[in-house]
Amino acid sequence: MNNIDKHNYNPTKVYDPEKTLFGYLRVSSKIQLEEGNSIENQFTQGLRVSDQLGMELVILNEEYCSTMSKIRPKLEQVKNGIRIGVIKHLWYYSRSRWTRDEIEDGLISRNYFRKFKIKVYEGESGTLRRLDSSQDRMLDRIFTTVQQFDREQRREVSISGKKHMSRVHGETGVFMGGTINFGFKNVDKKWEVEETESRYVKKIYQMYLQGISLRNIKTFLDSEGVRPRRSKTWSLGTLNTMLKNRVYVGEYTWKDKESGELFKIVLPQIISYSMFSRVQKQITKNIKNYGNNMRKYDTLLSGVLTCGCGENITGQIKKTVNRKTYGCRSMYSQWRGKEVNKCLNTRTMNMDETDSLIVNRIKSIVGDSNILKEKFKNEVMSKKGTDSKKITFEKNMIEKSIKSIDRQLDTTIKSISINEVNHMLGKTIDVKYHEISNLLEEELIQLEDKKKSYLQEIDDLDNQKDWIDWVSKFGKDMNKRFKKPTSKFIEGIVDEIIVSPVMGETRDGKSYQRGHKFKVKFKLPIVNDSIGYKNTDKKSEGYTVDQGKKSVETQVLEVKKQGRPKKNLNRKKVHTNLLNSH
Ligand SMILES: [Zn+2]
Repeated sequence: MNNIDKHNYNPTKVYDPEKTLFGYLRVSSKIQLEEGNSIENQFTQGLRVSDQLGMELVILNEEYCSTMSKIRPKLEQVKNGIRIGVIKHLWYYSRSRWTRDEIEDGLISRNYFRKFKIKVYEGESGTLRRLDSSQDRMLDRIFTTVQQFDREQRREVSISGKKHMSRVHGETGVFMGGTINFGFKNVDKKWEVEETESRYVKKIYQMYLQGISLRNIKTFLDSEGVRPRRSKTWSLGTLNTMLKNRVYVGEYTWKDKESGELFKIVLPQIISYSMFSRVQKQITKNIKNYGNNMRKYDTLLSGVLTCGCGENITGQIKKTVNRKTYGCRSMYSQWRGKEVNKCLNTRTMNMDETDSLIVNRIKSIVGDSNILKEKFKNEVMSKKGTDSKKITFEKNMIEKSIKSIDRQLDTTIKSISINEVNHMLGKTIDVKYHEISNLLEEELIQLEDKKKSYLQEIDDLDNQKDWIDWVSKFGKDMNKRFKKPTSKFIEGIVDEIIVSPVMGETRDGKSYQRGHKFKVKFKLPIVNDSIGYKNTDKKSEGYTVDQGKKSVETQVLEVKKQGRPKKNLNRKKVHTNLLNSH
C-alpha cells in the first residue's frame, strides 16, 4: 500500500517553506494512470529526494492530464504557492512530465523560479536545476520580444471580449456609459425613450423643417424651460448636432476609445427615417446658403444654381448702378478658409437674362410633361388627395419594414457576439467558428443593403410627395405662375441647376469665357415623358405614363459685351467676377 495520501497537500495546514519540498506528479497517458506504476514510482522517487534533503515531502498530484489539456489545477496551485511564498523548494520527476513543452517550462522558469528565487530539484537524484543555462538565456531573449506582442494582443482580445460580452448579456440598446443623449434615459444600463424629452426632439425636427431658424428654436426651448444635457440653456451647436444625430432614428455607433473598434447598437426610434432624411437635405441646403447676405434681395435662382466647380452661385444686386448678376462664390468660400476646386466660371451672368432663359425652359418642359398633367388631373381636378394619401401609406409601410430589419440586425449582431465569445472561451472549434462567422457577416451585409434600398424608397416617396404638394399648390394657374415665378415655385420642381462655362477664342488665339450653359435637374423624370395608350385604336381603354429624363440642358447664354461708353474710349479693365467688385 502506498502512503501518498499522507503526503498530499492540505490547504488548511501551515507549512514551513524552508523545510518543505513540494513534489509535482503527473502522467501523460491514461494507461500509465490505470497501471498506477508511474504515479507511485514518481512518488517514491520524490520521497527519496526529500529524505536526502532532510525535508518534508508534500505532493501535488495532477494524476492524468493529457499534453493538450489547458486545465491543470495542480500546476496552478504550484504557481500560486510560489507567488504567495509557500513554495520555496520544488521537485518534479522530469521536465517532460512537468510542463507541456519547453516554451511553457521556460516561461515558468523565468516568471516563477528566477523571479521568486525557487530551488528546483529534478529527477531520481534530485539534481538542483541551473536557471541560467544558455537555453534559459536564449528563451529569455525570445520572451522579451514576444512579450510585448503578447501583451498587446491579450489586451485587444480582452477589450473586444468585454464589449461582446456586454452585448450578449444585455438586451437591445445596451448603454455603454457617459452622458445619454437628450430624448433618452438610462434604465438599468439600457436605452429607453424619455417621453417628455422625446416630444421636444420631434418638435425640434418639425420646427427645423418648417424653416424656423436654430436661433428661434433655441429661444422656444429655453422659454419652455427645457434643459439640454450638461448645460443650462440651448446652443445652436447642440441643436445642430442633434439634428444630424442618427441616434434619433435608433442607430447608435459606439466607439471604443482604446481599440478604435465600432459597435453598432439598435435603439428605440424617435424620429422617422423620412423626417430625418428631409432634415439632412435641409441642413445641406442651409449650409450652402450660409453667409450669403444677398438673400435679402430674394433673387429667383440663388437657391438652385450651383457652379461646375461645386460651389454655390448667388445673386448680387447693385441698385446704384442697376447691375444685377449671378456669380460663383468660390473665391468667397476660399477666403473663408474652405478648400475649393479651381473655378472656370470667371464671368458673371446677367441676372434678368438668366432668369428668363431658365424660366422659359422650365415652362416648356412642364407644359409638355404628361406626368405633370396626369398628377394634376388626379390631384386637383378629380380625386384630390388620393395620391398623397397613398404615398403616406406606402411610406408608413416602409418605415415598418425598416424597423423590422433593425430588429433582425440586432439579432444578427448579437449572434456574432455570441459566436465571438464562444470562440474566445474555446467552446467552438476553429472551423465551426469561421463557418458561423462568415455566415453571420454575410447576413449582416445583406440586411444592411436591404435597409439602404428601403431608405432610398422613402426618399423617392418624399420627392413624389413634395411634387404632388407642388402640383396641388401651383398646378391650377400654371401659366400665370410662370409669368411671375417665385423661388418657392421654382424650388418645388427643380432640384439643382449646374452652371458650366462655354469657352471661345479671341482673334489672337487666346481662350476666354464667352458664355454659360445650364443643366437643369428636375425632381421627377418629366423631361420628354410620354403617354402610352394600352390600345391606340381605343384610347378609352387607358394608358400608362412613361417616365422621361430628369435633366435637360439649355442653350448657351452669351456673356454680354461691356457697354462701351462713348466718351471714354480707353475702357478700363473691369473685373466681372462679383467678388472682386465688393
Ligand atoms: Zn465656380
